Amino acid sequence: MIKKITCIECPKGCSLAVDIENCKVVSVTGNECPKGEKHAKAEVENPMRILTTAVLAEGLAVKMVPARTDKPIPKSLLMEAMEAVKRIRVERPLGVGEVIAKDLLGTGADLVSTRRVEKTS
Ligand code: SF4
Repeated sequence: MIKKITCIECPKGCSLAVDIENCKVVSVTGNECPKGEKHAKAEVENPMRILTTAVLAEGLAVKMVPARTDKPIPKSLLMEAMEAVKRIRVERPLGVGEVIAKDLLGTGADLVSTRRVEKTS
């Protein structure tokens, strides 16, 4: 099966034709450098994504704290990660980039705040 994907490793955005058999990449064409093949393999065989979400706050100036993982996590774990995030409550002021939850689902990625959050005044 040939799958078309766009390489996002650089602004050129090469259009890749990826030949896939049994969920494995057999060959890649359309890439102008080796990064394209690496990108295609990762995207097909082990896709990773940054989780962008919001966490419930209690006793703070906002109801929700915007957050994201500090590194990509397996795409297959995104729904499970969202369920875990729903159970988290932020109860203390935070700065940008402060850790809300360490090692989310054992992925090695921390969930961090993407905005400064103050206490209720
Ligand atoms: S294959 Fe290479 S040149 Fe093409 S978009 Fe990817 S990184 Fe850029």
